[in-house]
Amino acid sequence: MQERALTGNIITEEQVFFGTLTFADKRISRMERQGEARADANWITPGFIDVHTHGIGPYGADCGEGALGMATFAPPTGLTGVCPTLSSDVPEKMVAFGRDVHELMKSPNPATTKILGIHYEGPFIDYDHRGGMAEALVRGADVEEAKRLLAAADGAIKLMTLSPELPGVEAIISMMVQAGVTVSMGHTGCSNDQKNAAVAVGVTQVCHLFDTFDGRIVYHGVSKPCLADVVLIDDRLQKEIICDGIHVPQELITLAHRAAGARHLIAITDSLAGAGLPTGATFPMEDGRQMFMSDVARLVDDPECIVGSCLTMDKVFKNLLTRFGFTPVEAAMMTATNPAKSCHEGHVRGSLKVGYLADIAVISPEFEVQETISEGNTIYAK
Ligand SMILES: [Zn+2]
Repeated sequence: MQERALTGNIITEEQVFFGTLTFADKRISRMERQGEARADANWITPGFIDVHTHGIGPYGADCGEGALGMATFAPPTGLTGVCPTLSSDVPEKMVAFGRDVHELMKSPNPATTKILGIHYEGPFIDYDHRGGMAEALVRGADVEEAKRLLAAADGAIKLMTLSPELPGVEAIISMMVQAGVTVSMGHTGCSNDQKNAAVAVGVTQVCHLFDTFDGRIVYHGVSKPCLADVVLIDDRLQKEIICDGIHVPQELITLAHRAAGARHLIAITDSLAGAGLPTGATFPMEDGRQMFMSDVARLVDDPECIVGSCLTMDKVFKNLLTRFGFTPVEAAMMTATNPAKSCHEGHVRGSLKVGYLADIAVISPEFEVQETISEGNTIYAK
């Protein structure tokens, strides 16, 4: 049995300390504390898991090949687990994606980031809150279509985002939850009652909190709580949050930190294909226009125009610690532990614990990824 030991600032669910973590075969076998965390030591943190990403590097989550490309490109970002995310699309494409990713998951490539399952962001989305989704691609709740998606993916769907206000959507929520899918509410303008009804039938997550959410209503000078407000204080819901400081401004990240707490937050990138390419690199959009990678992805012809996120999880980890005031324990919770639970992997990964899979990101004090380890295999080394 081959053993390997890593020394550095080990981040567990409870604390961070300087010490040695040993793993053998695929699993963490020992953790020894040698003292307080040191400023000059690497972070040894659970490998990052992104449950909401549409693309990494030049690859997009639009077909099996794209999902595999994402998993192949991702290791230098510290990512050990990913749920390629397909937003509302034509039924045939969504079904084919499910079938293809299911095939990929049957024979995982040990040299890449692990594909943990599919996230469908749609297609059952409220028209008025579709955000960047194409008008023709969002549709009402269709139980038959939901059945076809479940059948094609055969267990590979781990998350589905839908709008709770769609008539008949409760049947889909129940069916998905029964099939082991985490159902996330998003792209929605639902009322508090509709939110509670959705939670009652099994919704446990919120899709990119604050983005595609309506603002607060002021009625005769009195502020009514908006959906983001009631969601923030509802501990039954885990909240995805894009941590680039632009899709969600820093003040709202702080609000979420204080109101919901890191235990109820799932850091996501919501990245597009092109994410992870060097700053300034251009990349073609589906409609032929060019975007370039900056703090966010922006239009070449109109740099003021934000097209989407080009965040990667190593940047998220850095942002949480250096810009947004989270502790290392909270950052690991948001980048690994909570996302692992969201895709039903929390019993085996997402945390540095003896017996858990050795999914590890080694990050320098300057926040550069030094090594990414997936189930004991080095999938990236600087
Ligand atoms: Zn998305």
